[in-house]
Amino acid sequence: MEHRESPEYIQTSLAASLTLGFQQGLFHRNAKLKGLNLLLHYDRGCLGRCAFCGLSRSRQEGPKGKTFIRVDWPLYPLEEVIERSKKINQIHRICISMITHSKALEDTIHVTKRFKEETDLLISELISPTLIRDMKSLEMMKKAGADWIGVAIDAATPELFNRLRGRGVEGPHRWDHYWNVAGMAVEVFGKFHVGIHLIVGLGETEREMVDAIQRGQNMGAYTHLFSFFPEKGSPMEKHSPPPLDQYRKIQLARWIINENLGSAKQMKFDGNGRLIDFGMDIESLIQIGEPFMTSGCPGRDGKVACNRPYGNERPSGPIRNFPFMPEPEDIEQIRKQLE
Ligand code: SF4
Repeated sequence: MEHRESPEYIQTSLAASLTLGFQQGLFHRNAKLKGLNLLLHYDRGCLGRCAFCGLSRSRQEGPKGKTFIRVDWPLYPLEEVIERSKKINQIHRICISMITHSKALEDTIHVTKRFKEETDLLISELISPTLIRDMKSLEMMKKAGADWIGVAIDAATPELFNRLRGRGVEGPHRWDHYWNVAGMAVEVFGKFHVGIHLIVGLGETEREMVDAIQRGQNMGAYTHLFSFFPEKGSPMEKHSPPPLDQYRKIQLARWIINENLGSAKQMKFDGNGRLIDFGMDIESLIQIGEPFMTSGCPGRDGKVACNRPYGNERPSGPIRNFPFMPEPEDIEQIRKQLE
């Protein structure tokens, strides 16, 4: 049987597949994809066992195959993805996601080089730190053409990380190593050319999440925020997404910290770690709407390119990460959700 594996084949997000014309369909409210998310694929899958992930080895597979950050990931020949992406002007950036597999590092470098040779797209690599032992690997990625590194730390505290991604699930990932690799990436790619992914709603308090965002900021890494969504068949399929008010508050706190308008230090929390005071007036921030848009790697215009339409929720809403600027009615909703 023919093996359709990386690097000859690559998975795209459903949104990328629609944008490249592999499948037909429109996005709800005409959201436009500016960043193509690609994922390496191997028959043996990912060696990680993360409790919340649809790609994890611990997942009970359903008849429809696997999902990752909520969406389906169809598989296409790499060269055809490259050819099609050359013709779509709205695309600014691609992101190559490694998975934890022994070939993933060399294949990520290969895919990066091919895109660099054939297109003028900006290139992010969402790396698997467990496969990265030293700066040399990161330097090779930069030399191949990547300008931005993503590190999916996902869980906001060492306890949660260990329980959901590390020893608690007999998984290979380690908290300290993830942060160390994020630090190495800042050294190689430069301050604020690194983004850490954090998922709200894995069981952390609001204070813990704000502290993790601040830790990233202090080292020169922005936070790219996700709202937990229960993947069917994953060990956390019965866990609920975080309440909307919690997610909105964390979006605001992230904006304040990453835009350098304030810091975790000035924010106040109650005895349960709930954020009760941002230490500044938030009305004007709610009004501009941007804090509630998807946070991710930038495009050629300096605005977020990786807008991941409906990656965190069903299109029927409510929208958690807005892939476009929220309209006045959306702002009204957001204000109510924050109350
Ligand atoms: S924000 Fe998007 S483009 Fe950047 S690393 Fe994460 S998934 Fe990739």
